[in-house]
Amino acid sequence: MVGILALQGDFEKHGDILSRLKVDYLYIKDKQELDKTDALIIPGGESTTLSMLIDRVNLRKELIRYSKNKSIFGTCAGMIMLSSTKNQDIKGSVDTLGVMNISVSRNSWGAQINSFEKSVDLEKFNIKSFNAIFIRAPKITKIEGNVGKVEYLGEEAILIDDGRHLACSFHPELDSDTRVHEYFLEKFFYGRK
Ligand code: GLN
Repeated sequence: MVGILALQGDFEKHGDILSRLKVDYLYIKDKQELDKTDALIIPGGESTTLSMLIDRVNLRKELIRYSKNKSIFGTCAGMIMLSSTKNQDIKGSVDTLGVMNISVSRNSWGAQINSFEKSVDLEKFNIKSFNAIFIRAPKITKIEGNVGKVEYLGEEAILIDDGRHLACSFHPELDSDTRVHEYFLEKFFYGRK
């Protein structure tokens, strides 16, 4: 069972992708639901709100514990939550989970009106011509330790596999292309069921 954190953001879009892939999934709002899953997706949305709601439903410690032996895939705001960005370096009040050894800068591709989509080749992931959608997306400012695989758009890292978790600054859930989700499932989920 794949969990999708369903406190805020476009979690239903991830559900649509998993339905297409005929994968069982569960929307997660508490620990009991989280414990039924073998891998988790944290969706895009608004990281300030996500951070607040994670505390409200007492999931912070649970998510950190979960990340020690199960994999999490974070998209956009989900990537911000997975990062280890220090409180003083993050614009707005977001308490990150510190699950991946990356730091980010929020809203760094421009405002809502500067949202864009671009066909990208994610060659290290064997994915060509993927329509990457960026909406007030974060930029990765620091990658520490031995992060397994990183794919770039120009100078900017946009997709990171650290060997346990996956994060991207764009929204692979907003289109019908399932390949980034398939990468996550094949590498981090099927082997664990
Ligand atoms: N700008 C949002 C944030 O900082 C992320 C946007 C998104 O998930 N599309 O949380």
